[in-house]
Amino acid sequence: LGRKIYYYPATASTNEEAKKLAGEGAHHGSLVIAEEQTGGKGRMGRVWLSPPRVGIWMSIILRPVIQPYEAPRITMTGAVAAAKAIRERTGVTCHIKWPNDILVEGKKVAGILTEMSADIDGINYVVMGIGINVNNDDFPGELKEIATSLKIAKGEAQDRLDILTGFLFRFEDYYNCLEAGEFKKILEEWRLLCCNLGRRVRVVGRNFTVEGIALDVDDDGALLVRSENGRVERILSGDVSLRA
Ligand code: ATP
Repeated sequence: LGRKIYYYPATASTNEEAKKLAGEGAHHGSLVIAEEQTGGKGRMGRVWLSPPRVGIWMSIILRPVIQPYEAPRITMTGAVAAAKAIRERTGVTCHIKWPNDILVEGKKVAGILTEMSADIDGINYVVMGIGINVNNDDFPGELKEIATSLKIAKGEAQDRLDILTGFLFRFEDYYNCLEAGEFKKILEEWRLLCCNLGRRVRVVGRNFTVEGIALDVDDDGALLVRSENGRVERILSGDVSLRA
């Protein structure tokens, strides 16, 4: 990973840029990194605030040999790598919030957005975007309540390059496990780092809400929730939001 790096002082969205480059044949492992995203994206068309020079705003182009239905495993792999790298390189305690966020003291410090191009022959490419708030001093408006940065958590600026390197080393290791058919190892780490398991959750989808205890995740990244009536619901990460 990272043999080829596309670096931008500013771009609309590293995921959009990466998808374009992947469509033009960019190699597996290429990185797209920007100092600033002017139209950073979250899931479902939401905005990811990415001000200049304070964060790691990056996308990785992958050409995995897994089936399209297994793609959520890539998000889980990215989340484990990000949480580990943050812990190792900054000492900040963070947890994974299913399916795609990293939290510090209940506030979002990083998010992952995985997008895929696939056809009848399987996956063409996957773009895994990751945004890590490293040195943001504050957040505007309602984001104040839900977002934080590693600088805010530690009380001092953190080294973006060191965290980025830590993430890439970890991600490459775990990604190799994934490709070697050892997803179980990643899943074990994921479970240890997740802050939702064993806790009450409310999962809100387009036309359903499930409340109950989050029991586990399965091999497809689906969350298993025991609802009030005792039934275990299996919730795919698609278009749902999880509230604690
Ligand atoms: P939900 O919180 O409903 O599960 P999500 O966590 O999947 O959604 P994403 O789509 O991953 O959310 O991220 C977009 C949301 O994250 C935005 O709607 C906004 O609330 C919040 N957000 C935007 N920029 C940042 C940032 N730099 N750091 C933390 N949170 C942000």
